[in-house]
Amino acid sequence: MAENEKNKIEGGALYLVGTPIGNLADISERAKKVLSEVDFIAAEDTRNTAKLLLCLGIRGELVSYFEHNKKASGERIIERLLSGESCALVTDAGMPAISDPGEDIVRLCAEAGVRVLVVPGPCAAVSALALSALPTGKFVFEGFLSANKGERRARLLELTSESRTLIFYEAPHKLKTTLSDMADAFGEERRVSLCRELTKINEEVIRTTLARALEYYTEHEPRGEYVLVIEGADGCARKEENPLLTLTPEEHVAHYEAEGLKRMDAIKKAAKDRGLSKSELYNSLIEK
Ligand code: SAM
Repeated sequence: MAENEKNKIEGGALYLVGTPIGNLADISERAKKVLSEVDFIAAEDTRNTAKLLLCLGIRGELVSYFEHNKKASGERIIERLLSGESCALVTDAGMPAISDPGEDIVRLCAEAGVRVLVVPGPCAAVSALALSALPTGKFVFEGFLSANKGERRARLLELTSESRTLIFYEAPHKLKTTLSDMADAFGEERRVSLCRELTKINEEVIRTTLARALEYYTEHEPRGEYVLVIEGADGCARKEENPLLTLTPEEHVAHYEAEGLKRMDAIKKAAKDRGLSKSELYNSLIEK
């Protein structure tokens, strides 16, 4: 299929259009094309999107689709899609449907047999993860924690032994309370990367521990938008669960040998405890 054919706007389709999270230059060519060619644009905040469109020199019909009108507005949008019109869904910033209204309309489209296409753009969570300097291979996105203290603490406790890197969105006025609850649940030494104002003039990443972050923000008022990326429980929690993990690999193997296991069996057992393969542990013994 020719490039221009592939990028032709389809009638009766919803386009999820990613928009910048702070830097207008991050808008993609395809996002501009789709926004200028669809029949109408559904926006979380029409005033905000009107400003974006003005900067891009795009005129278009804007309809409001946000948390508190999403049921009625969602039904009207589906009707228009079913009648053959095309629609772009945008939110205030970033990827629609990620901690944003959008999730519901995608589900309604799927149920109604409406085609949904994606025009990928910036996402605060993924951008922060990439900058965090924490393991990125496996991660969990938690979005916003509950504003209710009991629910928030309960959720954090459920996550204490989660070994994957954790990603949270947080508003500046709740940052200190959240960091304090996290330090209580995950331990003060858990590493955190606080990613602030990404792609904006004051973009900043503070890579530290929960205790030191809390100390820092007791002296500096949090400002701007934050993503918190927290190291997984590997390291900290597993050591508390199994004291043998505080030993060196040699001591760990020697412990099982002293219990009467043959050397290879002791290596196998210690490797299992440490979440390593037998050869990885063996290599760490001979490298010494
Ligand atoms: N859908 C958007 C996305 O995935 O990028 C996120 C929308 S959510 C309503 C807004 C939250 O995303 C903010 O409270 C903040 O936690 C995070 N966020 C958005 N823009 C950001 C930025 N430039 N820097 C850091 N965090 C940002």
